[in-house]
Amino acid sequence: MAQAIQACVHCGFCLATCPTYLELGEEMDSPRGRILLMKEGLEGQMPLAELAEYVDRCLGCLACVTACPSGVQYGELLLPFRGLMERSRRRTLGERLLRSLIYQVLPFAGRFRLAAWAGALARPLAPLLPRPLATMVSLLPARVPRPVSWPSVVPARGVRRARVALLVGCVQSVLAPQINRATVEVLTRNGVEVAIPPNQGCCGALSMHGGELAQARQMARRTLETFSLDGVDAVVTNAAGCGSGMHEYPLLLAGTSAEAQARRFAAKVQDVSVFLDRLGLDPPPGPLPRPVVAAYHDPCHLAHAQGVREEPRRLLSRIPNLTLRAVPEEAICCGSAGTYNLEHPELAARLGQRKAAAVESTGAELVITGNIGCMAQIQAHLTARGCPLPVRHTLEVLAQAYAGSPAEPLAGDAAGG
Ligand code: SF4
Ligand code: SF4
Repeated sequence: MAQAIQACVHCGFCLATCPTYLELGEEMDSPRGRILLMKEGLEGQMPLAELAEYVDRCLGCLACVTACPSGVQYGELLLPFRGLMERSRRRTLGERLLRSLIYQVLPFAGRFRLAAWAGALARPLAPLLPRPLATMVSLLPARVPRPVSWPSVVPARGVRRARVALLVGCVQSVLAPQINRATVEVLTRNGVEVAIPPNQGCCGALSMHGGELAQARQMARRTLETFSLDGVDAVVTNAAGCGSGMHEYPLLLAGTSAEAQARRFAAKVQDVSVFLDRLGLDPPPGPLPRPVVAAYHDPCHLAHAQGVREEPRRLLSRIPNLTLRAVPEEAICCGSAGTYNLEHPELAARLGQRKAAAVESTGAELVITGNIGCMAQIQAHLTARGCPLPVRHTLEVLAQAYAGSPAEPLAGDAAGG
């Protein structure tokens, strides 16, 4: 934690990319202000209860890390500080109930599937629900897809070029299993054997992000036990939040007996776009049925947390008649940020509306991104604007380009997410 506090020279270069500062205009809701508050909290000059609301409002998007010329590792301060705050604070009954719902349901695919089915049925009642529940319902797809069961290994097609282990994710495997199908399709078509450990669960990223560090450590340990690194070139994920979380395992498990294993594991974790870009993607055999103009949205946990910006764009540029357009304010978070849109629905909605307006201004007919949370958030706010753009994952678009004649249209279909 000391590095971030000592390295900050209070220059303010990060302010222009901090979503909460842009929306609220308060110094204490900026990276610089929060670093100062956390310093005072750690030194005992300010009670944690007084500064909690400002630290809570931080999205953990890490746009400030990208912007900072002094190399302040803000994330390394935020993660342990949130854990410290959670251990020492008194939450209201309403907050405790909401957090129980979030952290005892979302990371468990079976429980979340039941909740999602109930939520989809409750959609007509959404205006009567408390704001966090109404937000949760608005982010669900119109129909919750059937669960997919995977073999433990999907062989490469043709000559095997590599072998990976795939994290299928908890929330994503419930809301959008087609992303995993597309990922396996593109990997195997590129000569990659895909191991899918059958007993995998949540990687712990959601809990880590929310300061529930004991739960996050438990989930991280389970992931380390479930994923064998033997003969595996990479542990691959298609959800930016999970990839970012698994890269943080060494920090999460620092000082424990699992730290060395966490380092070895984190060194193998790659977003699927990075893995395919390094492997060398076989170009799709032909163009899409018609030219498509798409806007690419950078997930914060890919662009800021993992420094991955060019790889997905390079992969998509291999599709001959797909044109990518930049989204204005591309460094600014869409407001999804793990469970932020459930715990801070008003501010998340402002950011979601801001992002949806920016996306719409591109004139694109399709939105492409690499994180299920961003997909649900952007889709919900585009729909709320009456703008029926579909939102697709990078790997879905690649899989459809390989298929030549898409099973579902890339553009012109509003039932995305
Ligand atoms: S840009 Fe970096 S050094 Fe400057 S105020 Fe922000 S965090 Fe501190
Ligand atoms: S992580 Fe995001 S919201 Fe938090 S201080 Fe940095 S830029 Fe602002």
